[in-house]
Amino acid sequence: MKMKKLALHWQILIALVAAVIFGYYLPQWINYVSWMGVLFLRALKMVIIPLIFSSIISGVTSMGDGKNLGRLGLKTMTYYLSTSFIAILTGLVIVNLIKPGVGVDMGFSESVEGLTAEAGSIEDILYQIVPENIVDAMADGIILSVIFFAIIFGYFITAVERKYKETLTTFFDAIFKVMMKITLFIIKFTPLGIFGIVSKEVARNADQLGNIAGSLAIYSACVVAGLLIHAFIFLPLIVRFIGKAKPFSHFRNMVTPLITAFSTSSSSATLPLTMDALEHKSGVSNKVTSFTLPLGATINMDGTALYECVAAMFIAQVYGVDLSFLQQAIAVATALLASIGAAGIPMAGLVMITVVLTAVGLPLEGIGLILAVDRILDMLRTSVNVWSDSCGAVTIARSEKETTNVAL
Ligand code: ASP
Repeated sequence: MKMKKLALHWQILIALVAAVIFGYYLPQWINYVSWMGVLFLRALKMVIIPLIFSSIISGVTSMGDGKNLGRLGLKTMTYYLSTSFIAILTGLVIVNLIKPGVGVDMGFSESVEGLTAEAGSIEDILYQIVPENIVDAMADGIILSVIFFAIIFGYFITAVERKYKETLTTFFDAIFKVMMKITLFIIKFTPLGIFGIVSKEVARNADQLGNIAGSLAIYSACVVAGLLIHAFIFLPLIVRFIGKAKPFSHFRNMVTPLITAFSTSSSSATLPLTMDALEHKSGVSNKVTSFTLPLGATINMDGTALYECVAAMFIAQVYGVDLSFLQQAIAVATALLASIGAAGIPMAGLVMITVVLTAVGLPLEGIGLILAVDRILDMLRTSVNVWSDSCGAVTIARSEKETTNVAL
């Protein structure tokens, strides 16, 4: 008798549980399995640049004219900025109500050498958009530059003679189709990849569990509560009432990319899976996914935005600094910028907190207070980042009159 194959998301969930047990009880054997995670991540990173490049070009050429592109761009940016703003305000309200940092002693602070040097300034982020050299930008994985070049390239394909336009459109459509096939192939290995990644993380961080339960418990709880409220109340409301779509059917379709985001702490590495789930499960067109998702994975980070704000307020509270209304407003604005500037890679949000702390005049050493729990919070905020990108794609597709598979 032929056994029915278990659906991929069940395989992944089983892998996740097995990884936690393995990492906790058999840390000495971790090297026998961690290579699977490394290979899986490398494979995902391998497809990111050609996937983004071909997908954006094929999306932009299918839009036809600049008016379509402009409208989609405006909708996308409005969604990204407003959801990140809502996330920050949610965090701000929670951290002001619960005050997790008041009365906490600083004994558990860790040193943070080298971390602060990595965060670029706001200007650097702006300059990144226009690459000096597109090949360099691709080689270094500077996604914002690649997106910009691909949009320009796709747009001007539509402006050349018909003969060239047709050749190039078919060419990039074909590359995109092949990249999607490779992605689908890699996705089959997700359970093994996740087993490798998560068991290693558990083995490495098992001794930190005490810390999480200690001084940082209330702070972590504030971040988690904010993330949950944003992910399960605000975003579904937007999908339901603005997108006129079923948020929970869409959530079910997103299980594989969400668990991958959780395990890898990287929106960029998860991007191939996010694109696949939206196109093949939630039924959003390539025109919308190819434009919104790569951009979203780079600049739309609701989870990170919320985290930046809560972390900065927590540090202020621990240092006994009373922030004025204006300072809090500055923290909100810089948290938004920091989330836009953070790359879709692990710990990017932690590094960007330096921007917020500097803007409101808090000591950068404050980051040492929250290091111990950053990894687990990174996993959660990355999942919210990816979830928000996906809700954006559905909402925008519906506003473009697409039927999708999750319409009400
Ligand atoms: N790891 C997050 C992401 O890739 C960014 C962050 O550190 O907040 O979405």
